[in-house]
Parts: sequence; C-alpha cells; structure tokens
Amino acid sequence: MDRVVVVGASLAGLRAAQAVRASGHEGSLVVVGDEEHPPYNRPPLSKGLLAGAQSHADCVFPGVDALDAEWRLGAAAVGLDRDGRTVALADGGRVPYDRLVVATGCRARTWPGAEGVVTLRTVDDAVALGRALQPGARLAIVGAGFVGCEVAATARGLGCDVTLVDVAPHPLLPLGPELGGRCAALHREHGVDLRLSTAVDAVDRAGITLAGGERVDADVVLVALGGVPNTEWLAGSGLTLDARGGLRCDGTLTSVDDPDVLAAGDVAAWPHALVGGEVVRVEHWTTAAEHGGLAGRNAVVDPADRAAHVAPPYFWSDQYATKIQAVGFPGRAATLAIVEEDGPRLLAEAHDADGRLVGAVAFNHAKRLAAYRRRLATEAVAA
Ligand SMILES: Cc1cc2nc3c(=O)[nH]c(=O)nc-3n(C[C@H](O)[C@H](O)[C@H](O)COP(=O)(O)OP(=O)(O)OC[C@H]3O[C@@H](n4cnc5c(N)ncnc54)[C@H](O)[C@@H]3O)c2cc1C
Repeated sequence: MDRVVVVGASLAGLRAAQAVRASGHEGSLVVVGDEEHPPYNRPPLSKGLLAGAQSHADCVFPGVDALDAEWRLGAAAVGLDRDGRTVALADGGRVPYDRLVVATGCRARTWPGAEGVVTLRTVDDAVALGRALQPGARLAIVGAGFVGCEVAATARGLGCDVTLVDVAPHPLLPLGPELGGRCAALHREHGVDLRLSTAVDAVDRAGITLAGGERVDADVVLVALGGVPNTEWLAGSGLTLDARGGLRCDGTLTSVDDPDVLAAGDVAAWPHALVGGEVVRVEHWTTAAEHGGLAGRNAVVDPADRAAHVAPPYFWSDQYATKIQAVGFPGRAATLAIVEEDGPRLLAEAHDADGRLVGAVAFNHAKRLAAYRRRLATEAVAA
C-alpha cells in the first residue's frame, strides 16, 4: 500500500492527511481540493470573520505547510474509477490511489432559480456577505437553523435590520420546541423580526415573498437551508449513497462497498452505537475533526485492524452572548426535559422512548455539558 489520496481539503481532509503521516505512512500522500485556498476553519464564517473581528488568515488551519503531502488545490475531483484506482480531476488529470479518503463535505443548499441571493459555506461567501452587512442594511434570511440564527445574531451586532423566516414553529429544530422557543425569544429580544410557521413562496435579490403574498424587502437575501453532500463526483463509481447523498460507510468509516475507500466528516454516513446502529450523517466541526483523524489512521492499516468511530456528536453555536452546546442526538429524543436552569444558564437531557439518555443540551453551561459528553462517550463504547 503506497499511495494515499484524500479528496476534500478542509477540516476532515486535513486531519485525515495529518493522521496518515502520523501513523507512519512513508509512501505518497496527495490532497485534492476544489477551493483555491488552503484548509480553513468554517465556524468563524458566521461569527468572528463575518463580524470583521477575524481575517481569512486568522481562519487558516495551522500545520498545512508542515505536512509532507502533495496539495492539488483548485482541482475538483469529477470521477472515481475503482477498477483503475484513479480519481479523475476537472483539469483532465488522474490521481492514482491505493487507499482513498473521501472528505468532500457539503455545499449550501440553494433556492432553485433565485439569482443574486447569497448562501454561506466558503470564506469567499463570508467576505462578500460581510461587505454587504453595513449598518442599516436590511437582511432577510430564509432558514432559522444554526447558520441562519448565527448570521442573524452577527448582523444585529453590525447594526443591520434582520428578518428571519422559517416554516418551522421554532428555530433550531433538533433542539425541540422548548429550547427552540428560548432561542426564538433570544432573537426577538435582540430585535430580529422572526417569522415562524411561515412558508416562503419566492426568493429574489430584492427580498422574499411569503406564502399569502406578504413581501419582505431586503438589501441582502441569505438562503440558509442546510447542506447537501458533495458526492455527485462519485456517480458511476458503484459506491452506495444514502437517501440524502451521504457516502455509506460501516462503523470504521470504510465504504460498505470497498475496503480501499473511506469517508470522513460531513459527507460520511455511518452507523452510530448511541442510536442502536442507525445510520447517521453529522454536520459538526468536532465530528469532522474526529472522523478525519480516524479515517486517516484506518486508511493505512489492514481493514481487519480498523477502529470504529463511537464518539457522540458534539456541536456548539454562538448567538449573541449565548453559547449553545449539544452532545449526542437530542434531535432524535422522545423527550427533551430541562433539568437545571439558573438565569441565562440552562441544561436539558434528551431521552429515547425507553428512557435511555441519548443527548444533552446546554445554554451557557459548558462544564455540565462536558460531563454529559464523557458519559455518553462511555455509553457509546459499551453499546
Ligand atoms: C458558516 C458555518 C458555520 C459553522 N459553525 C459551526 C459551529 O459553530 N459549530 C460546529 O460544530 N460546526 C459548525 N459548522 C460546521 C463545520 O464547519 C463543518 O461540520 C465542517 O467544516 C465539516 O468539515 P468537512 O471537512 O467534512 O467538510 P467541508 O468543510 O465542507 O470541506 C469539504 C471540502 O471539500 C471540497 N470539495 C467538495 N467537492 C469536491 C470535489 N469534487 N473535489 C475536490 N474538493 C471538493 C469543498 O470545497 C471543501 O473545501 C459551521 C459550518 C458553516 C458553513
């Protein structure tokens, strides 16, 4: 086994490449990425970088130059030939591999046919959006998920008028109605015009038209409707995708079809012990980092010696002065109950239908959340 290729040069791809070398691989290592930029951190794109407190350079991951790898940046993978063991690039090049790590992440879901409307996934998106968010600018956001809510908070801090629209009855759907309701209150306290249970009929560069005809005029329109896995380039490869486009893997992040192909990060769909082996796909920073490390280590060993990914998903989200954190699978819980509340601090436990703990959510309560994270990690290992 001589040639390892990683496709996707972001968090999961970088961590995978670093783990390949840290595991002692002395053969060739090629990292292919369609963005021109070296790997950078995405969470600041809706927070510090958007607010102007951080620059693009601040967001570039350390360690890229130190890594002994061939970087093929600005080069999109457009096909995978598993018989010939090559990745085809848009420029006509072909990159041979013995082991391949797919870390192509997600792109932002768009509003079909809408022109002049922005999404937020890349640093270039964030820089352009930041320029438009001048004090007094009217920003309309479609989608009150994490990115929509974070941008709303940042834009209010920049002095913009913000309208945030979602067809759901509360923001941050996975947190359930009680905690989602707290989040709604937080945004309203900060002056966001929050329209919930409100369908959107049409979106264009000058605003949005709500179902029923009401028009929300805007200087900037952001569509924040989540991510779509970047797996089109795998079409025809024979690799199995899940219903939403994630690359289907086993617990060791190995493709269910091919022991020489692994996946990591937002693009990977794998069975998780905490939810009885249900296949999940997780779009969180920590999972992408952990996946990358594991996929890199697993890529350079015999398939029989590969370890499984069992860590519970964890994410954080910063909105105004509130840090929201969650661990496990609160979105799949039968019940999500507040177990502690003290001013702005709050802790909730998520249980499944059998009363088993499957997750926890904290508002400004990092220490208590960390304890749940340890507990769920132990339970996942035991499951
Ligand atoms: C605005 C924003 C804010 C976020 N904030 C938080 C947060 O606060 N907390 C949190 O837990 N998570 C947050 N996340 C999520 C977190 O950033 C992602 O989970 C993480 O970036 C996933 O890493 P990844 O490497 O799997 O995928 P990505 O970061 O999506 O990287 C995939 C890379 O592959 C490239 N690529 C795609 N297709 C191809 C191809 N065919 N050929 C070559 N290259 C390709 C892409 O261009 C990209 O560079 C945020 C995400 C965004 C967008």
